[in-house]
Amino acid sequence: MRWLPIAPAARRTGTDVASNSRPGDRRKPGPPRLSPTRLNCYLECPRQYYFGYVRRLPRRARSYFSFGTSLHAALQDFHEQGGAETQPVETLLENLQTSWVDAGYQTPQEAAVRFDLGQELLTAYYQAAEERQAETLFVEKMLSLPLEGFVLSGRVDRVDRRPDGLLEVIDYKSGGYLPSVDELENDTAIGIYQLLVARKMEETPIIGAIYNLRANQSVSIVRDESQLKQVESRVQSHFQVLSRDTTFTPLPGPHCRYCDYASYCPAAER
Ligand code: SF4
Repeated sequence: MRWLPIAPAARRTGTDVASNSRPGDRRKPGPPRLSPTRLNCYLECPRQYYFGYVRRLPRRARSYFSFGTSLHAALQDFHEQGGAETQPVETLLENLQTSWVDAGYQTPQEAAVRFDLGQELLTAYYQAAEERQAETLFVEKMLSLPLEGFVLSGRVDRVDRRPDGLLEVIDYKSGGYLPSVDELENDTAIGIYQLLVARKMEETPIIGAIYNLRANQSVSIVRDESQLKQVESRVQSHFQVLSRDTTFTPLPGPHCRYCDYASYCPAAER
């Protein structure tokens, strides 16, 4: 085991990390950027954030990330080409073939089982999409919003205009867990996606939905202008803490089991 302490001589804050600059990059660094992924990583465990975004230690390929990436790419192409209105289910399944990422699977058999599951999930997704009345406005779009001292950014999976006229930002999940509405209220990522889309479209209220592809079900939350302002101020506070952090105190817990840096970390819960 090789433990990696925070070296005082090399201390950097979370702001350094969040900046666009990379070692050796001669371009003028842009303002610090903060995405839901980075923020969630920091909130789960600041030391994990340090290893990943300050030290930039490589992550291991994980089959569940590959599975999610494959499904996202298949759905992106499907919606960009007009969705269920213009394409048969076979096209969506062919997309999965084209977008399939093998990295992280232990054996070809494990990958094959997952591929079959992916086809099953997309078939169910297609049937639901056929009945859905909403108009898809954009998919897999990177959005950003300048805030005080940093730029908030994130890639939204899909944004629909619903038949009732409301905007809905949809975040796909390929894992098995479907959150409750209460949990969604505290979900920083979905709040950020709602904020980014609302500011881009200059429109509120806005619906944020987690679409669980395993369950083929979604759970959603509406946020109006004042609730979006609360999200904004929460993110702003998190950034203040992150940007001044130089110690990145470990927060061990069950998530240590999935942490790529556990072998460097004396605090890892085993
Ligand atoms: S092993 Fe646990 S405590 Fe250590 S960095 Fe990873 S998540 Fe944090």
